Amino acid sequence: LLEARGLVKSFGDNRVLRGIDVTVPAGSVTCLIGPSGSGKTTVLRSLNGLEMPEAGTVRIGDVQLDCGSRPDARAVARLRGQSGMVFQAHNLFPHLTVLDNVTSGPVFAQGRSKAEAREEARALLERVGLADKADSYPVQLSGGQQQRVGIARALATKPKVVLFDEPTSALDPELVGEVLRVMQSLAAEGWTMVVVTHEMRFARQVADQVLFLDGGVVVEQGPPSEVLVEPREARTRQFLQRLL
Ligand code: ATP
Repeated sequence: LLEARGLVKSFGDNRVLRGIDVTVPAGSVTCLIGPSGSGKTTVLRSLNGLEMPEAGTVRIGDVQLDCGSRPDARAVARLRGQSGMVFQAHNLFPHLTVLDNVTSGPVFAQGRSKAEAREEARALLERVGLADKADSYPVQLSGGQQQRVGIARALATKPKVVLFDEPTSALDPELVGEVLRVMQSLAAEGWTMVVVTHEMRFARQVADQVLFLDGGVVVEQGPPSEVLVEPREARTRQFLQRLL
């Protein structure tokens, strides 16, 4: 469903991605793990055009972007329309209710009818356990609830793939579980997901494949039972040992 090939990206002299390939089958969960600064977030942002690599291609479904050819805004927008993104901090509009936050994508970006978007948004809020918060404002919610609204908002445009950028790392520890549980249930429903995470238990339980990044390359990839339990590469073993 999603395929990235040969992604290369520099910030000034800092070459952050050095030829990254990612293949994500439909209905699967891919976790990107690795040390701080290894390039995980940059890979994720490249998959929806929030970062533009100097070289490489990204394809989601039948929409392909050749990053090296300096694609125009329309081509980038077409790629972006294929995915939903959940950020580290929720990024909700503070002046809109929860319901209006969830309908903003379908109504403004996709031009769908407000009535239909609202109906679907209510179902999504129920899905993330927040049906009773539709008319609240973000500031009235806990961090975990805000993040669950962020997930509902990412799903509202019916994306082919949902990209999660460390969705629980800004949360108080006691709020992490409720967000991971929602993500786990989405995975069980068959959503295609790419997740940058430091939550190794989530990766072990939910991922179909794990990519370990270090220094802008994919050092090792495979099912969690291999990469997280019996890693082949010394660098992967060192990284996992440091987490214990
Ligand atoms: P973390 O786990 O800490 O979030 P990461 O693996 O996601 O790390 P990235 O956020 O992709 O790593 O960053 C990789 C490198 O790129 C880092 O050295 C970072 O400082 C640099 N970098 C990222 N974004 C920018 C930017 N907009 N401008 C300059 N440098 C950047």
